[in-house]
Amino acid sequence: MIHILVSIKQVPDTTNIRIDPETGSLIRKGVPTILNPYDAHAVAAAAEWKQKLGGKITIITMGPSAAELALQECVEMGADRGILISDRLFAGSDTLATSYVLAEAIRKIHQDDPIDLILFGKQAIDGDTAQVGPGAAVRLGLPLITYAVHIREMNQEQGFAIVDRKTETGVEVIKVSLPAVLTCEKEIADIPYAPLPQLIASLRYTPELWTAEEPFPYDVDQIGLKGSPTWVAKTGTPEQHQPGETISVTDVGLAKTIDTVLDMMLADSSVASILEN
Ligand code: FAD
Repeated sequence: MIHILVSIKQVPDTTNIRIDPETGSLIRKGVPTILNPYDAHAVAAAAEWKQKLGGKITIITMGPSAAELALQECVEMGADRGILISDRLFAGSDTLATSYVLAEAIRKIHQDDPIDLILFGKQAIDGDTAQVGPGAAVRLGLPLITYAVHIREMNQEQGFAIVDRKTETGVEVIKVSLPAVLTCEKEIADIPYAPLPQLIASLRYTPELWTAEEPFPYDVDQIGLKGSPTWVAKTGTPEQHQPGETISVTDVGLAKTIDTVLDMMLADSSVASILEN
């Protein structure tokens, strides 16, 4: 019986993103939220392996009470236990503090009910840093495979898994000892349609609530704004650049192409000033 933990985040639906023109920050109020898409695929992978080997899936999330909905969605996909880690003391946590909060929760769950595999999404579509999964792995002292696209094998008895990870040039196949941490790409598994009983069970499901005090006390210096050294100087939407001009060498010939490019470079004042010096 395998025990897989998936760490998920509820994020604003990015098709509905609005930026406050005054403050330059994300308007969260009234914005619909979704389960972070990479995390949904990670939960789907956990559900596939639960079906193959038997066992259970635990889901954790740190967030506001509304994140219960994301946990219910995971139960709909086959998760057995959902834990919402929520406390105003966690507000303002950056990736360093978030990885601390999640790693400590994972440590506690593992003590009571040993975990074989820990899945994160590759990144959250709002924060986009991709730091939380690796941060938690380092804090837990566990092996980490990023950009996982396929779990080929999981052998609980011998304590290893074989995982494909995407690289810039192809795919690496890695044998890793368990428990291990994976950050998952969407290819890791397709999201299944939930059977009706699972759907009904999810609507009735109430996740457990963990706070900064219960079931164990967090170090208050490592959570919330106090535990977050990241400083956001400015946020904004990048300027839209005009598309460049395409010159086809086969259409106009090499000499004409070079002339045109040189003229364009000389017309650019920053290039012209370099040439003058
Ligand atoms: P990534 O590292 O891109 O996420 C990778 C994966 O980690 C996800 O796919 C998921 O599996 C897991 N993961 C990420 N976050 C969580 C989570 N919370 N619970 C469980 N699993 C998770 N955000 C707020 O929502 N509220 C705040 O008050 C807040 N205050 C901030 C203050 C500061 C100074 C800064 C710098 C950031 C703040 N943020 C806040 C943003 C917050 O740091 C990030 O959203 C959070 O740390 C996760 O980083 P990320 O979104 O880049 O996740």
